[in-house]
Amino acid sequence: MRVALAGFLHETNTFAPSKAGLEEFRSGGGYVPMVRGPELLEAFRDVNLGMSGAISVAKTQGWHLIPVLWAGAIPSAHVTQIAFEQIAEEIVSGIRDAGPLDGVFLDLHGAMVAEHIDDGEGELVRRVRAVVGPKVPIAVALDLHGNISEQMVDLVDALVGFRTYPHVDMAVTGASAARILDDMMKTGIRPAKAYRKMSYLVPIPSQSTDLAPAKKLYAELAAVEAEGALSASLFMGFPATDTPDCGPTAIAFANTQVAADQAAERIFAAYEAAESDFNTVTYTPENAMVEAARLLAIEGRGPVVIADTQDNPGAGGVSATTGMLRAMIAADTTDAAIGLIVDPATAQAAHDAGQGATAQFNIGGHPGLPDEVPVSTMAIVESLSDGRLRATGPYYGGTHLDLGLSACLRIGGVRVVVTSQIAQMADREMFRFIGVAPEEQSILVVKSSTHFRADFAPIARNIIVALAPGPMPFNPSKLPFTRLRPGLRLSPNTNQDEK
Ligand SMILES: [Zn+2]
Repeated sequence: MRVALAGFLHETNTFAPSKAGLEEFRSGGGYVPMVRGPELLEAFRDVNLGMSGAISVAKTQGWHLIPVLWAGAIPSAHVTQIAFEQIAEEIVSGIRDAGPLDGVFLDLHGAMVAEHIDDGEGELVRRVRAVVGPKVPIAVALDLHGNISEQMVDLVDALVGFRTYPHVDMAVTGASAARILDDMMKTGIRPAKAYRKMSYLVPIPSQSTDLAPAKKLYAELAAVEAEGALSASLFMGFPATDTPDCGPTAIAFANTQVAADQAAERIFAAYEAAESDFNTVTYTPENAMVEAARLLAIEGRGPVVIADTQDNPGAGGVSATTGMLRAMIAADTTDAAIGLIVDPATAQAAHDAGQGATAQFNIGGHPGLPDEVPVSTMAIVESLSDGRLRATGPYYGGTHLDLGLSACLRIGGVRVVVTSQIAQMADREMFRFIGVAPEEQSILVVKSSTHFRADFAPIARNIIVALAPGPMPFNPSKLPFTRLRPGLRLSPNTNQDEK
């Protein structure tokens, strides 16, 4: 079986301050940096991404692989037209030039919007379909946050989404899609498919599959498959994407249309019935510090982990806002740490000052955000690093990260992990590499909404969600949408409790 492999991943927050150009795809930002040709196979060894799972299935099934190109960038505003066209063209021409193919495997996200195209993945698949023709099966692995279009479902033969958030099953999902592709190539049979769009958006911290009701909704997918669906997927959708396809989707594949329709309907109905269970208590930065102090007094030890969700770079944040840092300093807390603050100038200044030095710094802030100014303060340069580390927790799953010149600055009892490159704080190694032992802190503030749970929940005494100002509002109803499909509700019908 001759199978072409390609990947193109971006989660687009159409309201975020900066776009994704070719440089963002080249560096990867927490993903594998852009890679093409045979090197692609080596790059996905021992990491947790959809492509890794597909390659493992390919090996066991003896596929002849034609690796074309894989490119992923950290979430941000739109993919630039230049980046989309160049990457898409390289993928499409690589597949066209691959010779006769038995199948195509694509590792995609599902919420990519380019400057000139609303449905990034749908457009890519349309172009791939145009060169391989109607008979070659195309299988796709997608993120749980995909805003899946009808065009996309129409054009592919198998489509499987992650079932966990934090996404600890990315490689598993790629393997599932690849196994369905293997069956289609061997039998020549294409399953029937069904597609339903749901009626309301959910804030991303409330989507965690560690928590009710998402935990139960995702557990039910296995039951749907046990009753006869070949594959069942529930996409929570990425709520900060102002396009008509934004929102959750139920998708099922089965041997008959009736079975596919029934499976999709069951996923749809369960999601619709769960609306009043999506509820997350949130705190202002100041009240988050008060609540953390209260919990520490009761529990006797930390860490209390505070999710600085509105500046989560995994959802379009810049990982540089200072609202939580200011609250930490104001609370005069001890043994507290925050990361990552992405600020190349401060990282460079810390290296220039040298380890052990005390100096004036302007930490964080982002010129693209209103009222977001750096914290000007004296700080001690506690440690320095070149920013290279291997993130070994269940989310990154062994990915090598290059955070660039990095420093740990200490302001009183608050340690700030400053880096030059962006990546979501979702791994304890992202504190350890700069000398901060996360287990020994009383308070850890993480620039993440949910992925941090994979590696931090096992050590967290408590987890709370704070709403410091940032580019990704917790509640989707606060976003200035203009292009959603009519009737879509912007948040669940529950009182989101703000303390
Ligand atoms: Zn996701």
